Amino acid sequence: MGNVLKVSISPRGATRLKKGHAWVYRSDITSSDSVPPGSLVSVTDQRGKPFGTALYSSSSQIAIRMLSREPVRDLAELIRGRIRSAIAYRKTVVRDTDAYRLVFSEADLLPGLIVDRYNDILSLQVLTQAIDANLIREAVISELTEQIHPAAIIERVDPRVRELETLPPRPSGLLQGTNTSTGFTMNGVQFHYDALEGQKTGAFLDQRENYAAAAEYAHGEALDVFCYQGGFALHVVRHCSTVTGVDSSRPALEVADQNATLNQREIEWIEANAFDLLKDYASSNRFYDTIVLDPPAFAKTKRDLDSALRGYKELNLRALKMLRPGGILVTCSCSYHVGQADFLEMLASAALDAHRPLRLIEVRGQAKDHPVLLNVPETSYLKCVITSVTN
Ligand code: SAH
Repeated sequence: MGNVLKVSISPRGATRLKKGHAWVYRSDITSSDSVPPGSLVSVTDQRGKPFGTALYSSSSQIAIRMLSREPVRDLAELIRGRIRSAIAYRKTVVRDTDAYRLVFSEADLLPGLIVDRYNDILSLQVLTQAIDANLIREAVISELTEQIHPAAIIERVDPRVRELETLPPRPSGLLQGTNTSTGFTMNGVQFHYDALEGQKTGAFLDQRENYAAAAEYAHGEALDVFCYQGGFALHVVRHCSTVTGVDSSRPALEVADQNATLNQREIEWIEANAFDLLKDYASSNRFYDTIVLDPPAFAKTKRDLDSALRGYKELNLRALKMLRPGGILVTCSCSYHVGQADFLEMLASAALDAHRPLRLIEVRGQAKDHPVLLNVPETSYLKCVITSVTN
């Protein structure tokens, strides 16, 4: 890579790296003279002691994302190798699906790159200046093509991410191939997929194993709140007498309905604000045997923690009051800032207020294709807790 550019970091930044974290914040950079955006850099402390090689962002609060403890001579080659390792890892942990996350950024030692596989279509997200470089994009696309032979590769662009990274805007679209829609199967349930529609990269793949777990305990009349395209509803329907899915997004419910047809199942879909609907249903004495709560992230930053916990508690309290004895509550949070302990404490407090003693059946996280890297706590974000209301 020619001359190695150097970035030096403060003792606080050095301590983070020594503890195994991959990030150094901008406030801990002591010198980054004439380092261009997105460079491969050698990281040292102020006395010049090396920590290894990282990718540099000139604008993000996360200035440094570590790549290796060693010098890196050929970044494209390193990235190709890491993609192969990420794919090999999926072969050991992914079962019963043709849709899963192939590359999960830091957790696959590929900071700034996310790749999801939906059957024969790959959906890619580029989150940093370094990964956006043409040479790196080309290496990523060519390695994915060689390993997976997809019918198409599409890029999903989050304009806010490009703005934060001071990258020029670009549209979402096909990078290779022509198909933008396909179908995929997980746990024997079929789904429609349109690569350029929907939230995230199309589906909530991180819940895949939780769908199967929820289906083991679901029974009777079920309500899937924040159902999106029906992930939980379509899984529990086999074991329930009736299933109702609720979401505020009409386009999501339209796909949910097509998914129900694809699986030859009857599910009722209701377009509503979940908070209002739960309030109405609770006051009209509706009862269920199974309720799933999977709201969007309430805490986007640490500062939102208290208000997020109040939001989660309100939802969980309402749901608990609507559950029949022996009923199952499957309750989720995808906010990284709400830790597992915070979430369980919130749930305990909701159970107390609802006068519904709760049994903890399973405390779960994200599916194994969204690995958690132990020393990078930010890689662990999803909580899915399955409980039973005592008889
Ligand atoms: N359970 C889904 C994922 C849910 S994501 C799955 O497994 O696929 C969160 C969903 O909440 C989104 O579909 C979004 O449209 C919906 N949503 C956000 N705010 C809402 C509200 N106030 N009322 C109802 N739905 C809401």
